[in-house]
Amino acid sequence: MADVTSECNIKVLCRFRPLNQSEILRGDQFIPTFQGDDSVNVGGRSYVFDRVFPTNTTQEQVYNACAKQIVKDVLGGYNGTIFAYGQTASGKTHTMEVSYFEVYMDKIRDLLDVTKTNLAVHEDKNKIPYVKGCTERFVSSPDEVMDVIDEGKNNRHVAVTNMNEHSSRSHSIFLINIKQEHTETEQKLCGKLYLVDLAGSEKVSKTGAAGAVLDEAKNINKSLSALGNVISALAEGTKTHVPYRDSKMTRILQDSLGGNCRTTMFICCSPSSYNDAETKSTLMFGQRAK
Ligand code: ADP
Ligand code: MG
Repeated sequence: MADVTSECNIKVLCRFRPLNQSEILRGDQFIPTFQGDDSVNVGGRSYVFDRVFPTNTTQEQVYNACAKQIVKDVLGGYNGTIFAYGQTASGKTHTMEVSYFEVYMDKIRDLLDVTKTNLAVHEDKNKIPYVKGCTERFVSSPDEVMDVIDEGKNNRHVAVTNMNEHSSRSHSIFLINIKQEHTETEQKLCGKLYLVDLAGSEKVSKTGAAGAVLDEAKNINKSLSALGNVISALAEGTKTHVPYRDSKMTRILQDSLGGNCRTTMFICCSPSSYNDAETKSTLMFGQRAK
C-alpha cells in the first residue's frame, strides 16, 4: 500500500470493521459501499478521506499505510499524534493496538500510579504544556513498552452502560518520548508520539444514560467537539486562532498537533445498519477535519 502520511500534516483515515456475530444473528444489513481506496458510500452519500480501509484490511496493511511513516518521522525528531475516533465497539482500540494517563471528566489520572488522580497541566519555560508529576518509565525495548501498556490498561476507568459492550468512557493518552543521541555526530534528536484512544462518540439517548453517566456523556461530547474544532481549524490552515485551550486534552496535545507535526485521525465505523446514525455522524466528524 502507498504511504499516505508524508505530504500533508493532517491525515484522516477511515476504517470499517466487519459485522460481528451478534449483528449477523440479528440480521443487520451491511451498509457501506467502498469506492476506490479513498471513498465510502453510506445511505446514498459519499465520504472521501485520505484513505478508506474496508473490512477485510489487515492490521499490517493499516500499519504500513500510516503508522509506519509517523513512527519514522518521530524517530527523525518530529512530534506526532495518532487518534482513534468512533462509537464504542467500532474498532478504536483494535486499530491502535495499544491502549499512560487518561482524561476522564476533564481530570487527568495517571494510569501508571493510581494514587495520582487529578494531575495538573503546567507549561515549561518554552510555554509547552505538559502533565506535571505524571509517571515516566524508561523503556529500551518494544517488550518493555508492551508491559507498560498492559499495566496502564488494567487501571483504565470503565463504567458500564447498557450498550452490549462495556464502553470506554474516558480518553486514554499514551505518550512515547524518544530521545536519541548519536555519539559520533553529537546530534541530538527528540520526538514524541501521542497515541490517543478516544472515548466512545455514541449519542447519549441510545445508551439510556442518566445521572452521573449523563454528566460523563456530556463531558465526553464537549471534549470531542473541542477536539473537532481544533482539528478543523488546523485543517483549514487559514485560522490564526486554534482553540487549544478549550479542553485539557487539546491543551496537552498542543505541541503535537498541526504545524510541523504529524497528525493522523482514524475514523472507526461499524458497518451495521443498527448503527447507521452513529456511523454517519462519525463520518461527518471525520469530514470536518478535511
Ligand atoms: P472500541 O475500542 O472502539 O470500543 P474495539 O477496538 O474494542 O472497539 O473493538 C470491538 C470488538 O470488535 C473487539 O472484539 C475487536 O476485536 C473487534 N474488532 C474491531 N475492529 C476489528 C477489525 N477491523 N477486524 C476484526 N475485528 C475487529
Ligand atoms: Mg476501546
